[in-house]
Amino acid sequence: MCLRVPILTLFVALLFGCGAETADDGSAPPSVMTLVSGASIGPVRIGMTAPEVMAALGEPDSVTPFNRLITVKYSEPGLEVIFTSSDAVALSDDARVRSVSTLPWAEFEGPVATGQARTSLEAEYGPADIDARGVIYFVSAGLAVSLDADDKAVRFAVWPPFTALEKPALMLPAQTRVKDLPVQSEEEMPFFEFKGERYEVVDMHLHIGKLSGQVLSGVEYLLGRLPEPSLLYFPATAGLVIDPYGEHLGIKHHLRSAGIGHGVLLASYTQKTIGFTENRLLEAYLDDPRNTSPDGLPWSWGLASINFDGFDNPAVAEARLDALSSYFETRPDVFIGIKLAHAHQAVSFEDPLYLGVYDVAARYGVPVLLHTGITPFPNAMSEAEYYDPASLAAVVEAYDGEHGNGRVDFLLGHTGRGDARAIRSSIELAAAKDNVWLEISLIDAVLSVDENGDPVDGTEKMHRPILEEIKARGLIDRTIFASDGPQYFGKIRGYLSLMVSSMVAVGYTPEEVQMVLADNFYRCFQPPGR
Ligand SMILES: [Zn+2]
Repeated sequence: MCLRVPILTLFVALLFGCGAETADDGSAPPSVMTLVSGASIGPVRIGMTAPEVMAALGEPDSVTPFNRLITVKYSEPGLEVIFTSSDAVALSDDARVRSVSTLPWAEFEGPVATGQARTSLEAEYGPADIDARGVIYFVSAGLAVSLDADDKAVRFAVWPPFTALEKPALMLPAQTRVKDLPVQSEEEMPFFEFKGERYEVVDMHLHIGKLSGQVLSGVEYLLGRLPEPSLLYFPATAGLVIDPYGEHLGIKHHLRSAGIGHGVLLASYTQKTIGFTENRLLEAYLDDPRNTSPDGLPWSWGLASINFDGFDNPAVAEARLDALSSYFETRPDVFIGIKLAHAHQAVSFEDPLYLGVYDVAARYGVPVLLHTGITPFPNAMSEAEYYDPASLAAVVEAYDGEHGNGRVDFLLGHTGRGDARAIRSSIELAAAKDNVWLEISLIDAVLSVDENGDPVDGTEKMHRPILEEIKARGLIDRTIFASDGPQYFGKIRGYLSLMVSSMVAVGYTPEEVQMVLADNFYRCFQPPGR
């Protein structure tokens, strides 16, 4: 298949080049669009700016904006073009084409054809990498196809191809050194405003990465929840959204537009469920000259992680713990904690094989953020010992600073979301031990498991009762805001608004809201310079 696209393109170019289709009267021949998977359809190429597309096709028939994602439709010649833009609702001059697709009536030439059977497409490109709600994806070709009820192709979208890697490379030690960061003084610090109060905000749970590190079954799960019109285009912008410095949609733009001054970016070794982001990639982003903020601090800090696969080999475990340690040894200015996700890494909270990671945390004085609560991703562990922090109690006590192991601060990510037992044990554990903190990303989930451990179809979103309970138990000073974003541009502002309005609604004072949004984070992590 690899050769077919270039040969067809060449063939079409030759046709035009030798003038074979010049009309009798000498005028230009009727233009035939060519689809080149991963690159272009007709005159529209990925990477073109909005003015370039307008010059080629004129004014579009419709423009539909959604949070810096602008969908433009041309009934003639039957194309839909997806731009990202600096403006949330309009095409900026620097708006850029991320994907282009054929409408059902478009006439074009290329390696694929409207009406082509799925079996024929799969004979060409191999089995579809992703199959979600009538759309199939061939990721290394950069091609999505929407199918009708008879599995015949109706529309095609092209976007930059990528290759999904199955697992991370060997865990490597840090390779950069602390350096002085320039101060970005031309910008102002972003703030979040609500009911006349200005809040400083840190989002301490942000996922970064590359498309190549994503698990396709996890992507398929996410696609099952996306609005229908965006299905064809997901891979076109997903990489930008998880790039800290991505154009238009990247996390730095995203946080700024949400009124958030600083972020904490996470490495992860969750290659069984969602995907992986290696410490080395995170290090490169933290070391980037763009990692600056008007207040003179780094714009973002990072939590390193550890690959637990194959950890039963003592030599492997030791090498990984050493590699993890190196990030705190050599870059304490930007690496400020550890991220673990037991349910995704298929490790139970109390398994002694994995406790060495807390010795590293104690040695360098860095907090550990752990996933707690239900995760809906395929292949994640669904038994409570992987996500209910009740089974973490012994570890929390062992590392409370009074049992000879040093002290570690534990942050319970998502406060046990989705399971009434896990929510209760998170709050109980925080009430019992002062080295436990509650992190409140994604707590707006309904219950899917009740107090007895039985499955339920909860209807009430749990964030208000959780925030109320935190206040009632006097735990506001150990509660920390986070979003678990970015997911899509605009999502973080929405979640921040929901958390702030809910906290205010259940009686948090502005001072208490400020504690949750940033002050507690600084007290817990103590990033240098702050
Ligand atoms: Zn997360």
